[in-house]
Amino acid sequence: MPALRVNPEMAQLLPLPEPGERWALFLDVDGTLVPIAATPEAARPEPALLPLLERLRRGCDEALALISGRSLASIDSLFAPLRLAAAGLHGWERRRPDGGLVRQQEPTGLLARLRPQLAAYASARPGLLLEDKGGSLALHYRQAPERGAALLRFVRRLAADEPEVHILRGRKVVELQPRGADKGMAIEAFLGEAPFTGRRPIFAGDDTTDEDGFAAVNALGGISLRVADAETRGRSSCARHTLAGTGELHRWLCGVAQRLEEGDRSQHSGTAGFHPALRQDAPQRSPGRR
Ligand SMILES: [Mg+2]
Repeated sequence: MPALRVNPEMAQLLPLPEPGERWALFLDVDGTLVPIAATPEAARPEPALLPLLERLRRGCDEALALISGRSLASIDSLFAPLRLAAAGLHGWERRRPDGGLVRQQEPTGLLARLRPQLAAYASARPGLLLEDKGGSLALHYRQAPERGAALLRFVRRLAADEPEVHILRGRKVVELQPRGADKGMAIEAFLGEAPFTGRRPIFAGDDTTDEDGFAAVNALGGISLRVADAETRGRSSCARHTLAGTGELHRWLCGVAQRLEEGDRSQHSGTAGFHPALRQDAPQRSPGRR
């Protein structure tokens, strides 16, 4: 077993790929791979993260996708020059490893109706930031946390007149997006296509919007992994494993990359596949820590 510097309890609970086992990696971005920053634009990946993602992508035979609330354009700018398979806007848009794009259709005029009302609300309240992601509208209140409750009431009143809108609550952000996509659906869509098909799904996330993804991989016998910090540690989650921060996740991912490379060298791209028995094993060996 590679020397992991995670705390000993986590090292025991968190599995690494068995020889020949084929994994598909799904990774949230903010709060998971990259520490949360004051604004989305201020977030920066650690320099070592990019080569690590490249190793993981190779080790998984391209079956790696970022699953984020950011748009694909924002993901690409954050990880440039890397351009990875990804689901953006919580699965609203998806890019396959071959570059093929899948995007949902927005209900006519929905965001155009909401945009001016949200802009007026935010501009009258210092500390609120409206982020227009194209396919969704996010109001960040990290710089004015005391405004969160009133903001949520306002957004709910707006949404009451718009049945096609879905309210997503994240870490100091409330987001309005057309219904029809979530992170679980995005992961399932990837798993229905090459090179993800037949692999064991792993999903790491940190937020309430990641719960759909945790539930999806749990149902498939995969590994659900939550990155928690002081802000989120007490929350309930259906993730079966927890790591304390992005640094611990990076160390675990280094172990995964190493194990995948060892497996590749010894087996010349393993052929064991995702055995159905793993579906039964997963809950027993994943006691979880909330
Ligand atoms: Mg996140």
